[in-house]
Amino acid sequence: MSTPIGSLGSGLGGGVELTISNITKEMLRRGHKVKIVAPQGSIGSSLPIKEIPGELQIPAQNQTRSQPIFIPKNSVLANMWDYARLVQADYDVIVNFAYDWLPLYLTPFFNCPIAHLISMGSLTDAMDEIIEQVAINFPGTIGVHSQTQAATFTFAERCICLLNGLDLSIYQFCPEPTQSLAWVGRIAAEKGLEDAVAAAEIMGITLKIFGLKQDVSYWEKICQEYPDAPIEYVGFLPTVELQKELGQCRALLITPRWIEAFGNVAIEALACGVPLIAYRRGGLREIVQEGKTGFLVEPDSVQGLVKAIKRLDQLDRQACRQQAETLYSLEAMGDRVEQWFQKILKK
Ligand code: UDP
Repeated sequence: MSTPIGSLGSGLGGGVELTISNITKEMLRRGHKVKIVAPQGSIGSSLPIKEIPGELQIPAQNQTRSQPIFIPKNSVLANMWDYARLVQADYDVIVNFAYDWLPLYLTPFFNCPIAHLISMGSLTDAMDEIIEQVAINFPGTIGVHSQTQAATFTFAERCICLLNGLDLSIYQFCPEPTQSLAWVGRIAAEKGLEDAVAAAEIMGITLKIFGLKQDVSYWEKICQEYPDAPIEYVGFLPTVELQKELGQCRALLITPRWIEAFGNVAIEALACGVPLIAYRRGGLREIVQEGKTGFLVEPDSVQGLVKAIKRLDQLDRQACRQQAETLYSLEAMGDRVEQWFQKILKK
């Protein structure tokens, strides 16, 4: 069950889009039968998708803690779960990738077990409450991507940490990069792009920017504030093209203002041999191997980014690829996810 905030391939779903496609590919390779249920307009190359019409959910990222749950008329989320109810007898497990209240609330009403892969940390009281209820009443069904993400909830010890994984055969190792730096992600306030732009300006090094302009006014504000910064907006690229461009960069700057649950872009960079310069926040704290595959920087410190950029020569691109192969291959992720499903089924 995909995210209801955008169709697959639109970029609106952020890292969840890649995660769904990767887990599906690996489960199919292992001989499981899988169907993705996603909003209408979804594209997933050769993956089996059931498209569902309806109004999209609004993203949870910008909501205040006390905000009530919002579900529009003709909700795609509700329509997707109606479909799940009808076909549940055909499946052993339903996997929920939506950071939404409804699927968690519906858990006790389904006969088929539901595994919830929670893609963000604590954001609103209503979501915290419903995730905790499911964690208590259906032990082992709440999956997360990092320990740091789990620690944002009061029930961290009830969460199963799955990290994430990539089809490494798509990502080519690039041993000799250009001078450019990269920034990859949804262009939205919680991603803190302006700090990477400021660091690039101080250093006088080109910053290539890849990603969906989710918040256009935020992007325009950055362009106005840094009219002379050496930035190049490349666009929102499909994975195959993204990895080619990203691989040629000297480092990936990751500058989130929020607690990033994991950071798919970090492991995609590592897979291409690109070291990380990241704020010491969220899942990035667990991904970056300090002084080996990247540098962790004091959050919100542009000077910290600048200092780290100056030390980039100390990092080994081969070690970056190696880390991706050891921890973030599809096989490694598939093992973790399959074990998670098996434990749920045993219960
Ligand atoms: N992405 C992409 N093309 C681009 C820029 C980004 O496909 O040009 C994808 C990237 O591969 C990653 C996702 O956007 O999977 C961003 O995910 P991340 O976990 O870093 O952050 P989120 O958006 O989920 O907060």
